[in-house]
Amino acid sequence: MNDIRVRFAPSPTGYFHIGSARTALYNWLYARGRGGKFILRIEDTDEARSTVPSVRSIIKGLKFMGIKWDEGPLIVKNEKGEDEITSVGPCGPYFQAQRRNFYTQAVDTLLSAKRAYRCFCSHEELAAERKSQLESKGRVGYSGKCRDLSHAQISQLMAEGREPVIRFRVEEGRTVSFHDGIRGDISVRSDEIGDFVIMRSGGLPIYNFACVVDDHMMKISDVIRGEDHISNTPKQIMLYEALGWEVPRFTHLTMILDIDGSRLSKRSGARSLLEYADEGFIREAIVNYLALLGWATKDSRNIFSPDELEREFSLSRCGQSAAVFDNDKLLWLNAQHIKNLSGADIRRRASAVIKEAGMDKYPEERLTAAIEMEKEKIKKLTEIPEKIGFLFDSDFEDDADVKSRAADTVRIVAKLAKALESAEPFSGEKIEEKVRAFAKAEDIKTKDIFHPLRWALSGRSKGPSLFHMCAFLGKDEALQRIGGYIGRYGGSGGE
Ligand code: GLU
Repeated sequence: MNDIRVRFAPSPTGYFHIGSARTALYNWLYARGRGGKFILRIEDTDEARSTVPSVRSIIKGLKFMGIKWDEGPLIVKNEKGEDEITSVGPCGPYFQAQRRNFYTQAVDTLLSAKRAYRCFCSHEELAAERKSQLESKGRVGYSGKCRDLSHAQISQLMAEGREPVIRFRVEEGRTVSFHDGIRGDISVRSDEIGDFVIMRSGGLPIYNFACVVDDHMMKISDVIRGEDHISNTPKQIMLYEALGWEVPRFTHLTMILDIDGSRLSKRSGARSLLEYADEGFIREAIVNYLALLGWATKDSRNIFSPDELEREFSLSRCGQSAAVFDNDKLLWLNAQHIKNLSGADIRRRASAVIKEAGMDKYPEERLTAAIEMEKEKIKKLTEIPEKIGFLFDSDFEDDADVKSRAADTVRIVAKLAKALESAEPFSGEKIEEKVRAFAKAEDIKTKDIFHPLRWALSGRSKGPSLFHMCAFLGKDEALQRIGGYIGRYGGSGGE
């Protein structure tokens, strides 16, 4: 098997969460780094729990991450202009619910070869069997009662209307071994695995079986999935062998835990990937962060662009210990990636946030320029209105620090306003020159005029570079704001 083909095979039974997103990303990076193909397969055999909205959220989440699948489901517009979900690729359909004939064929092969058999045991019988096994502290697992039913017995039970499940006949006394891409060699004794069900009575395949049939038919070379599936792998290997199919390579990714070592909670990563996007996290940061949940370079570097990840990522540098989801690190990475973008790019990505805040009425170039000034301080796109709103709307409330200290500064600010009137052009450099010259002439420390000027212009103690902010506002607006400040605080202690 030379061709690298990986698959991401989610069950569409809920939102697209962080763990799934990481599995998808590792598969994608692995395939990209080796010129391989990435296949998306929807494992929707659980009819009761699988939903179309969940398929959509998976597709949306993958697209948000920039993952493009070579084969798999696609949302297209039909003649009526409505969205329709279909499949593209030579090994389709890529929805398990549409592949039942393949599973039936494979079951028939196993039945004919006596590697599988019909089992008529009822739920009650199986529960009673399990109970007595537990009581006698013996091995828990199917007893093999229906293993050797004769044709006549089977016909008789069928005639009675009993509907069998199909069980796989596990060979006794052997060891199933495989090499895990992260954990190395793993062996399991077959006696620990009882004959397991591969198809329900209605003809619906069980996950382990459908997965093997599909991975084989889709020519998957590497199965990369969560550690929660590690106990399924020996069963799947036995199925491959029984069907005479080549076994793919397996890699199981470690769990992702909360920072305190517990399972992920809603507060930490147990949320939809798209919620993070809505909250103002950008693609590059999320992809970068997910890549670090279980993988590291030798020098433990933190910041990677998606392109760098494609080049650098390798399964051999994935660790064996659980990854820890750290919100603060994600936020830090988001800030790092945001400041690498241009103001225009940030504005485009934040267009929904800007609209929501009613700021889309301002000219795009002005929004872009304001964002450019503040981008070093933006941690999430959702912070943008709060960070730049005051640059557009002078109807802000002064913060407490300004309120308590403004009155003593009114006289000097009023004098400075006069000096600023002659700043021409009203550029950052010219304003700075004027303000510094003013401080010198008045024999005051620069900070004693820089701060009050900032307060007057913005009502806050922190913000963008003072002179750029002043230039951004323009002379009329800046002088008007200074006038407003003098008006607000001039009554007490001012001129
Ligand atoms: N449908 C399974 C899941 O979502 C896929 C497991 C696998 O990758 O084999 O967990």
